[in-house]
Amino acid sequence: MAKVTLFPQACKGMEDCGICALVCPQHLFTSSGEMNEAGYVPTRLTEPEECTGCQSCMLSCPDMAIVVVKEKGEEAS
Ligand code: SF4
Ligand code: SF4
Repeated sequence: MAKVTLFPQACKGMEDCGICALVCPQHLFTSSGEMNEAGYVPTRLTEPEECTGCQSCMLSCPDMAIVVVKEKGEEAS
């Protein structure tokens, strides 16, 4: 298990970016359907409990809109 925190105000959304959706091996990202203050529709996680903590989304996001923290006791992969 891992904890994924999204920062919707920093996200450029699926239409204008969508990199997290492309790199997530679990296919957990979808559109939130709610526009942020910058006029983008940020992403959300469909099934957060399915996250493996691989951190691909966090490392790939150009806007640092994702933070992935592994649960205590897990090794970084
Ligand atoms: S990679 Fe980052 S900026 Fe791009 S859609 Fe995903 S969370 Fe938003
Ligand atoms: S850490 Fe990996 S599995 Fe979890 S949401 Fe990000 S890309 Fe998907």
